[in-house]
Amino acid sequence: MAKTERKPWRVTALTLFPDAFPGVLGASIIGGAEKSGIWALETVDIRDFSTNRHRTVDSPPSGGGPGMVLKPDIAAKAIDSVASADVLSGDERPLIYMTPRGKPLTQKRVRELATGSGIIVFCGRFEGLDQRVIDTRHMEEISIGDYVLAGGEVAAQVMIEACVRLLPDVLGDATSASEESFENGLLEYPLYTKPREFEGRAIPEVLLSGDHKKIADWRRKQQEEITKARRADLWQAFDQGDDHERD
Ligand code: SAM
Repeated sequence: MAKTERKPWRVTALTLFPDAFPGVLGASIIGGAEKSGIWALETVDIRDFSTNRHRTVDSPPSGGGPGMVLKPDIAAKAIDSVASADVLSGDERPLIYMTPRGKPLTQKRVRELATGSGIIVFCGRFEGLDQRVIDTRHMEEISIGDYVLAGGEVAAQVMIEACVRLLPDVLGDATSASEESFENGLLEYPLYTKPREFEGRAIPEVLLSGDHKKIADWRRKQQEEITKARRADLWQAFDQGDDHERD
């Protein structure tokens, strides 16, 4: 990939484990896009903002209960160090906290984020982050699904990868993103490729017919049936004429 002239889509990840980055984001087309300057990644070690000699960042939950909570004063200093630089440069980015309590990440939000100038993403650890810093820094809370990970780094990488692949010049074939699951409110149709016959199963005849209208109709029907069978929530929204996915 050639170097781009555009300003990169900027990601700053605040984390207790900077070594967890770039992780999978360094591989394949996403890693290649960073090398060509389409996007840029920096990490900020939250522990650098601790003021005691043990570099403590957490303390027990007020009111009792298991685990530890990330301290608001340290988290706020880490966030402000990044956000204030954005304000000075006139290039403010959404500040996102990855948390299972957040709004589920959707392709619609991914598309919106990808059209901005980048994101600042805070990766939680322990039981999570003190509520006051979430409130005072107006953090957008995003979840990648209804399950609990050990930390926000993998969740952040999921979101970053979903955004970066939509940036201009990242995908080889620009139509491939527009034909995917969720883009029209439905899941993708089944895919086939050579050989024509595999373990006694043939590629559906219509896909070899060369009749583009018939192929499009068949694919659309498959999309509808798969969505109806697997995702009642998406199907209901689609069936009610709201063929844009949920917010
Ligand atoms: N006590 C929290 C709860 O019950 O909601 C779970 C904390 S989890 C062990 C630690 C961190 O992992 C969270 O602060 C968050 O940053 C991240 N995390 C875990 N699951 C996640 C998910 N499904 N989506 C986004 N982030 C998640």
